[in-house]
Amino acid sequence: MRDSNFLIEQNGKPIWHPMAHPAEMRKAPPRVIMKGEGTHITDIEGRTVLDAVGGLWNVNLGYSCDPIKRAIAEQLDALPYYSGFRGTSTGPSIELAYELVEFFAPDGMARAFFTSGGSDSVETALRLARQYWKIRGQGDRTKFIALKKGYHGTHFGGASVNGNANFRRNYEPLMPGVFHVPAPYTYRNPFDETDPERLARLCAKALEDEIAFQGGDTIAAFIMEPVMGAGGVIVPHESFMRLVREICDRHEILLIADEVVTGFGRAGAWSGSRLHGVKPDMMTIAKAVTCGYFPLGAAMIGEKVADVFEADKTSFGSIGHGYTYSGHPVGCAAGLAALAETRRLKVDENAAARGLELADMLEGLKRKHAVIGDVRYKGLMAALELVSDRETKKPADKAIMGKVSDAAYDAGVMLRVSGSNIILSPPLVLSARDIRKIGEALDTGLRCVG
Ligand code: PMP
Repeated sequence: MRDSNFLIEQNGKPIWHPMAHPAEMRKAPPRVIMKGEGTHITDIEGRTVLDAVGGLWNVNLGYSCDPIKRAIAEQLDALPYYSGFRGTSTGPSIELAYELVEFFAPDGMARAFFTSGGSDSVETALRLARQYWKIRGQGDRTKFIALKKGYHGTHFGGASVNGNANFRRNYEPLMPGVFHVPAPYTYRNPFDETDPERLARLCAKALEDEIAFQGGDTIAAFIMEPVMGAGGVIVPHESFMRLVREICDRHEILLIADEVVTGFGRAGAWSGSRLHGVKPDMMTIAKAVTCGYFPLGAAMIGEKVADVFEADKTSFGSIGHGYTYSGHPVGCAAGLAALAETRRLKVDENAAARGLELADMLEGLKRKHAVIGDVRYKGLMAALELVSDRETKKPADKAIMGKVSDAAYDAGVMLRVSGSNIILSPPLVLSARDIRKIGEALDTGLRCVG
């Protein structure tokens, strides 16, 4: 590799970064991260900070997980790649599918379809949902309903069910037949309802209303994140997903739980669906399936859906969908090691326990800093929504967000800014001391704009 002067000089020039303006990246190049150890990362200038972002919600086991590294190296030696398309399979993909089916059996999952990441998993689930109805002779069921503020990746299907305008507008027209209903977002919602339980009922009613308007027998599936991540860690009332499940059942609509962030313990339970006591019909997973050590994802398929495909006697059941890297043996070997460590370390329990400390810390900061409009959290996913005025709830501007995150970085903690939210999604193996450190750095950052 070339020296660091070269990297600094070229930073932001030949590469276009996701979710960034290319011109801005040229003008103010991003931080270059060179090393990771435990829960910390080190940048090109040699500064080591606690990673409160956990890579991108995914490095649940931190950066020094030797069993995953070893599994990857061993699999590279044995077989770096072979296809999973009809006709061939590989050992690690069979084994990981077996393990994932067992892991998500309490959620009603029965099969795994491997992908290369979260967007692929969402695309797979949407496509299989349509196919499911074609097999059942109800080819009219093609529409999807999703939540405003939901994030489901960036493929055209995923972007179409996405509920954030900034990921849609520049790519329109998106897929037809997709409709959105209000999210149970207590801080801002069209009903001006601040009680989470009442809001859950109102949002459920809005869903029911949209279904009636569209015609239930035209809808293939409803997709939602059990705890909404990228839209700003919106935590629905515990009743919401159960209400959604009842509505979907009443209208025979498939329920897809997008668990790309919430799968594997982040919200303090092994899945967000389990947290809410709901069994979806399909689940999308990625991120922590390998904890970021290799790109991999899966659409998990529930028993009801699997039964229809496997009992199919029409010409509709063959899956005309898949990726070169579906079931990549190195990714699956990484996944097997990550899952074993995830279970051994009971990271769901640590996420729940540290999550309570994180919640206390955030509530304390909210009492202290008027720039915080709202704090939201579940397990080890949290957001601080900053406002320039608590009365009008005017979102804080880019300059304020930049100042807070830069000062926190100088104080030793990497934060992530998304719009007017500061997002926290640290590794799930962090300690109580790490939580205090995040609190101190946030306090330092927020004081700069107070
Ligand atoms: N779904 C959810 C809920 C996500 O949070 C993300 C990514 N943050 C995706 C899908 C897309 O995953 P990927 O970026 O791996 O394509």
